[in-house]
Amino acid sequence: MRVAFIGVGHMGLPMCANLLKAGHAVTAYDLVAAHLDRAVAAGAARATSVADCVAQAEAVVTMLPSSPHVRSVYCGESGVIARAARGALLVDCSTIDPQVAREVAFDSLARGLTMVDAPVSGGTAGAQAGTLTFMVGGSAKEFEAARPLLACMGTNVVHCGASGNGQVAKICNNMMLAAGMIATSEAMTLAARLGMDPTVFAGIVNASSGRCWSSDTYNPYPGVMEGVPAARGYSGGFGTDLMLKDLSLATEAARVARVPVLLGAVAQQVYQKHSADGHGAEDFSSVILQYLKT
Ligand code: NAD
Repeated sequence: MRVAFIGVGHMGLPMCANLLKAGHAVTAYDLVAAHLDRAVAAGAARATSVADCVAQAEAVVTMLPSSPHVRSVYCGESGVIARAARGALLVDCSTIDPQVAREVAFDSLARGLTMVDAPVSGGTAGAQAGTLTFMVGGSAKEFEAARPLLACMGTNVVHCGASGNGQVAKICNNMMLAAGMIATSEAMTLAARLGMDPTVFAGIVNASSGRCWSSDTYNPYPGVMEGVPAARGYSGGFGTDLMLKDLSLATEAARVARVPVLLGAVAQQVYQKHSADGHGAEDFSSVILQYLKT
């Protein structure tokens, strides 16, 4: 397929490379010249604008920071919706506000374009390995149209329901993950402070009812597990600022839907403080430093 790829940053670049590896003809565009240069070095053709990028494309994939960037790339006179060829498939893989995803999909449909939201989990490692999970929002027909392309970049492509539901799955999962990571951090720190060996405590938790992904796969306490960010000074992994962004999307969506998310709101504030304390670029499990340091 002729694919336009817009936003070749940390995630977009390796995703674009996997589309090229699968034999697609990719034209890339990014506001940052150095990012676009890397995509061109990987084999993509260079576009000079969004309009130029999408003009000949049968499918458009976007991987942008957040809702305002998606609006600006898709909407307006020179945006994807106005400039894409009729019948083109539009796939936004950015994590954004579900309501914005629905609005952009609605505008696309009004111009006869097929659009799905397809945010991902799996991080940069999954993007490189082509093992991402895609959470897809759109009709069954739109999902089937997008599936083959997404399968070139991921191993798990899940239909979440109507437009926007991919974003719903993504932000609700991450809200749970953040609360679980904070709870694990508190319990690990308290047990250690009360005199327990943290590794023995983690072993008990992981065979008991307190077990969760943050305790058994990604334990934040230094020295308890190998190969996790806690074992390397919290470098790599999923950044605190990305988690903060997802929590802010979740609490804002909850406000609009008038659903109380007490733990989600606390988690958002804990991560906001953690970021303000200078840990924004560290892995999100570094939130345990808020407790270990006290
Ligand atoms: P990034 O900032 O590295 O990449 C975004 C790219 O979009 C940048 O190259 C930027 O220059 C480009 N861009 C911004 N505005 C643009 C515009 N108007 N036109 C063209 N290009 C534009 O971000 P990332 O880490 O690749 O994340 C992308 C998305 O994926 C985000 O929504 C993020 O929440 C989500 N996500 C990231 C991870 C991760 O581990 N990094 C994991 C899961 C989901």
